[in-house]
Amino acid sequence: MRTLIHNVMIFDGTPQPPRPGAVLIDEDSIAQVFGGGADFADNAVDHRIDGGGATLMPGMVEGHAHLTWGSSVEKIYHQFELPHEELKVAAWRNARVLLDSGFTSAYSAGALGDGIETELAAAIEAGETPGPRLIPSTIERSPEGDDTGNIFNGKGPDAMRGFVAHCADTGVKVVKLMISGEDALKPDTHNLIYYTEAEMAAAEEATRAAGLLLSAHVYSSEAIELALRHGVRVLYHCSYADAGAIHAMVAAKDGIFYAPAVGVLVATLEANPPPHINMSQMKSSAQEALPLLNALVPTLKNHGVRIVIGGDYGFPFNPNGTNARDLIHFVKHFGYTPAEALSAATLNGGALMDMKLGQVREGFLADLLLIDGDPTQDINIMMDRGKIRMIMKGGALHKGAELAQA
Ligand SMILES: [Zn+2]
Repeated sequence: MRTLIHNVMIFDGTPQPPRPGAVLIDEDSIAQVFGGGADFADNAVDHRIDGGGATLMPGMVEGHAHLTWGSSVEKIYHQFELPHEELKVAAWRNARVLLDSGFTSAYSAGALGDGIETELAAAIEAGETPGPRLIPSTIERSPEGDDTGNIFNGKGPDAMRGFVAHCADTGVKVVKLMISGEDALKPDTHNLIYYTEAEMAAAEEATRAAGLLLSAHVYSSEAIELALRHGVRVLYHCSYADAGAIHAMVAAKDGIFYAPAVGVLVATLEANPPPHINMSQMKSSAQEALPLLNALVPTLKNHGVRIVIGGDYGFPFNPNGTNARDLIHFVKHFGYTPAEALSAATLNGGALMDMKLGQVREGFLADLLLIDGDPTQDINIMMDRGKIRMIMKGGALHKGAELAQA
């Protein structure tokens, strides 16, 4: 099936101003991109979509997705861990909410259950439930156990190898390691390092052999450098990176991605919880980390490190479906232009997915949004689901089917 989307301003994923044009979709991919004034009238097509001058852009990529963190703009949960049946309902809902919010891809940063994201990814892939393309993960691994050999939290290289083998068996693609502690949960733990060199070497070797990808929660410079020595592909947070860690990240830039996960920090500082919920520790750690990121992110960006959006959405005060707020934070806190923020969400996100995604470009998958207005002029409109006229994933219309004329 061939669809022509015409009368649009194209934001192609690179941080350039939108240009007038048209796009021909053949099955699941972009067959041709026409500049303004090009003659596409004699192309035989099944459907035409008149964009009415709206902005056509790549679908966004959430680079730090937690679909099993229950809360979304459609339902808030006040407990963090949900019973299994409700967890499934929430995760399936969150996938649809993310897609409805303009995210056609999601790279998981960990799940609150084992096996649930592989099941969800398969259901999405089979068309049984709407959602973004999902690179699934499992429980974020933190070695707080002892030497019992427990693969989920035991110490030692063998337990790590067992975990990676389990991930491979269940069809997980991303192995997420908590290398640093987390101040928001346990005070003064950001400088702790939870893995030894031998455990990280085992993780590197086992994931490489199984074709899996490593992601890591890291704060201190030592944790960042440990991760980089052992093939970690995606680094989250990194707030306490010093000059040496920055240098190491820049040296590794062609093989890594970085997501500062700023959304949760801003939302934590803004949150106004009821009296029985104590967020003082979370707030003080966010208060400390945010200014550090404000300095770090522009430095890494200027050195060409590939930075993606994604900010621990899924808390009641930072629900799934508000993920596009990261774009606004990138502009406000990190000095990005709106077009650069959109490029982080699309071009860089597509590279993170390691698929032909994130660009309006011939041969790329037809994951596309049609936005009322120009988000390169006003980034705030990306937060308004009502401004998203069309959501296309792999050439199929999730939203805006009525726009397609025979
Ligand atoms: Zn996270």
